[in-house]
Amino acid sequence: MKFSNLNLPEFEKIATTLGIEISKPAVILLYGDLGAGKTTFSKSFIRAKLKDSSLEVVSPTFNLVQTYPFEGCEIWHVDLYRLKNPGEVEGIGLLEAFTSNYCLVEWPERLGDLGPAGALTIKITQDSEHTRTIEIEAP
Ligand code: ADP
Ligand code: MG
Repeated sequence: MKFSNLNLPEFEKIATTLGIEISKPAVILLYGDLGAGKTTFSKSFIRAKLKDSSLEVVSPTFNLVQTYPFEGCEIWHVDLYRLKNPGEVEGIGLLEAFTSNYCLVEWPERLGDLGPAGALTIKITQDSEHTRTIEIEAP
């Protein structure tokens, strides 16, 4: 599925809808350059799942992962930008988390071949300063 020329509210609506509809376990790999909208997407997704539209969702750039308890499992919001080698993800328990939670992964390229099979892939590209294209691929 491909959605083009989305303004910010339209972009957030797609992330919200996915957050409402998707069931676990779900790994969502978020591809896109710096400033594309991976964190913005994650924020809307997490707020939708937790039914809290003003929940503070901070970018986990410095601590790799931020978790949110949800219905007996967790939502993992991961930013692998600063990951030096794929082995480091085992240290934070990410590979285990993939099997039974919701995981949103920014910079999934850093996983190398540790990326899970069956993940949903989302590619975000910048059409203009204020518009984005989202391509969603299910396995
Ligand atoms: P990333 O995590 O991919 O580096 P961010 O989500 O942190 O990117 O930043 C995206 C920025 O672009 C945010 O400041 C957001 O408000 C802005 N933006 C402007 N227009 C849009 C749009 N149509 N869709 C998503 N983000 C947009
Ligand atoms: Mg980000």
